[in-house]
Amino acid sequence: MAPSPALRARAQCKAGKSGSPIDPNMNERILNRFALLKKKDRLAHAYLLTGAPNAGKTRTAVAIAKLLNCEGEKGDSAFFLEKDEKGRCPHYCGQCPSCKKIDSGNHPDFHRIESPEGESLKIEQIRDVISQVKFRPFSGKYKIFIIRDVERLTTEAANALLKTLEEPSASSLLLLTTSSAENVLETIRSRCHMVNFFSSSNEELEVSLKGRYNAASTSPEELHFLAYMAEGCPGKAQRLADDKVPSRKNTYIDQFLLSAHSDEFINTIAADKDRLKEFLRIVMAWFRDAILLKAHGDHKRLIHADRVDDLEDFAVRFTVNDLGILYRETVNAYKMVVDNLNVKLPLLILKEQLWGN
Ligand SMILES: [Zn+2]
Repeated sequence: MAPSPALRARAQCKAGKSGSPIDPNMNERILNRFALLKKKDRLAHAYLLTGAPNAGKTRTAVAIAKLLNCEGEKGDSAFFLEKDEKGRCPHYCGQCPSCKKIDSGNHPDFHRIESPEGESLKIEQIRDVISQVKFRPFSGKYKIFIIRDVERLTTEAANALLKTLEEPSASSLLLLTTSSAENVLETIRSRCHMVNFFSSSNEELEVSLKGRYNAASTSPEELHFLAYMAEGCPGKAQRLADDKVPSRKNTYIDQFLLSAHSDEFINTIAADKDRLKEFLRIVMAWFRDAILLKAHGDHKRLIHADRVDDLEDFAVRFTVNDLGILYRETVNAYKMVVDNLNVKLPLLILKEQLWGN
């Protein structure tokens, strides 16, 4: 059966054609849902976007803000799932003053409330929202407030926010995000419509990455690595690609895991905390792959699929139990790095376990 036009449009949208204004890290399924709600004029006042870190919650919330206030020629018409002549899914145009101001953070009706990593969302920040929410939009159709990581609201701030959720104003929309819904006050959760972000499978992400990166800049092996290392999270895959992790991961494998002469490498890597964490994550993935191969003969889900021959040679030298121990010791070394402890000794011990004395 031939796919329907809507499905074709969806597939093309997923592929993220180059030059498209569509942010590839936002969740298209959820954006479609909001496009439909807008079309039917059935938007609620507050939504709680829940999903794993890097699942694309904030990017999708920003895309929703553009969708609702876009002034482009299709911004006000029923364009749900219709593609334009360039094969894009124009839920928003990305070019009009409204879309551009949202991108640059200068839209008077678009507010993003967040706090630095590890800090709580404070009452002053929520008071700001309360003072704005009751006014009509300046130039857009909706006033939109994205409040990130609402599990970090102080009790005071959460109680203040509750009042706003109880007394909604017609033209404002609150998009709250959290990666741990169980830690959000029940009273807040119950006043919001829930929107769940499920990670795509590794296979789905790999397919979507193939549509996004051109083959000249990123090899199929690298795309596979990105998708599986990111465990299906598009934002995480993007970060790994931006940090150029695929270009370094084989150096870690060759100079540490497959070389008995790794002392110099250990000295260098132990001195660089950021690289050290990256290195340990690659090593964990290697041991995990070796266990998958040895215990289950599983070739399909390997992260380091490009090194399958080396993995097989490596796994022959250890029992599954040994590999489990190596994996756990690498996890412990990682925790030590996070706690700012020196891991040179644990790395030397790991080396001894890999090669004997
Ligand atoms: Zn626009």
